[in-house]
Amino acid sequence: MAKHDIPVGPGATDGFYGSFGGSFYPERASAALTELADAYGRLRTSTPFLEQLSRVRATFQGRPTPIHHLRRLSAATGGAQIYVKREDLNHTGAHKINHCVGFALLAREMGKSRLIAETGAGQHGVGLAAAAAYFGLECEIHIGDTDNVKVALNVSQMELLGARVVSTGAGQSALKEASDAAFTSYLRNHETALYAIGSAIGPHPFPMIVRDFQSVIGTEARAQFTALTGGPPDHVVACVAGGSNALGIFSAFTADLDVRLHAVEPLGRSAAPGQHGATLTYGRPGRIHGSDTLVLQDGNDQPLPVSSIASGLVYPGVGPEMAMLVDTGRVGVSTVSDAEALEMFVRLARLEGIIAALESVHAVHHATRLAAELPSDQSVLVNLSGRGDKDAGAVLELVLPARDDESRG
Ligand SMILES: *Cc1c(COP(=O)(O)O)cnc(C)c1O
Repeated sequence: MAKHDIPVGPGATDGFYGSFGGSFYPERASAALTELADAYGRLRTSTPFLEQLSRVRATFQGRPTPIHHLRRLSAATGGAQIYVKREDLNHTGAHKINHCVGFALLAREMGKSRLIAETGAGQHGVGLAAAAAYFGLECEIHIGDTDNVKVALNVSQMELLGARVVSTGAGQSALKEASDAAFTSYLRNHETALYAIGSAIGPHPFPMIVRDFQSVIGTEARAQFTALTGGPPDHVVACVAGGSNALGIFSAFTADLDVRLHAVEPLGRSAAPGQHGATLTYGRPGRIHGSDTLVLQDGNDQPLPVSSIASGLVYPGVGPEMAMLVDTGRVGVSTVSDAEALEMFVRLARLEGIIAALESVHAVHHATRLAAELPSDQSVLVNLSGRGDKDAGAVLELVLPARDDESRG
């Protein structure tokens, strides 16, 4: 395989991943989705396109991101050696920029002048706004709840980067409303605009496009890990909401059955309906965002409320390829609670000097569980999907109330 080739994975032709996937949007969406599938079908193997993507990744994004051995955490855990792929060191602080830059380049190649998306907590919005500015494109971000501190900071950054931020309301269904508004705007404007979805979800061809753009994580990680240790890792772990960062790192290992793959979901406050975001664990087959997949739903097939301390993991569905990988047994699933994630957020900072995102420390926590049961010559590689600057204030308030009282008094 040449250096810039994107591996040909499932979904390349029909958008189905076993019994999951497809494209279930009203007829009026088909012109836009067909145009996108055709254009991307041509570009995904185009050498000039992939070379340009590589250049932007190297110079603007800061790729390749390093792999780092967590020596002190491994020693404190006992057992296998734990490594992290540092996606937190990407420009704008998370893996999301991998597909945002890809969509921006795709839009430019398709002759579009605007990128449209929704964002939940704002991380996807900031990545997309940065990518749009870099390529000289307009950016329109639909957002639900704008009145928490974390989101307000992200909105300021999006506006600073030149994006137009459209508020669609607050409450449990805020992200769904923002998502519907963004998709409606795309259908109305698809002649001049491209929709840049936030994860490996939605109707064909979006799950395939996002998976392809994120697969740079796995391609780099496999080569780097082999150079470092002489072979691939024994276990690979990633947190999952829609599945983009997990598919990104898993993609280089799925064909290698000696490498065990682990998806980690947020258990939130408890396993009760509405208290978590563990779709692969507790979801049932259903339809969400124009795709057949697993969905957290009530007895009337309505999506359930979702809860997690990590706002990037709050989603009642999951991408169709991840649903298939779990359904077939290739990927194992575990859950990590809010309390466990909080504890690991502080532990990783103190033991390793890394402030990782609350999303990512779900995966690190599960890696320590695995490592503790394994011999010391085994290895566990964790995808550290993002940095935790956005979470630091809230975590300090939750875990260090005594200190907070002192500083106030
Ligand atoms: C959005 C986000 C996630 C979850 O999204 P996936 O598509 O499942 O990867 C995980 N970590 C970070 C830092 C995020 O911003």
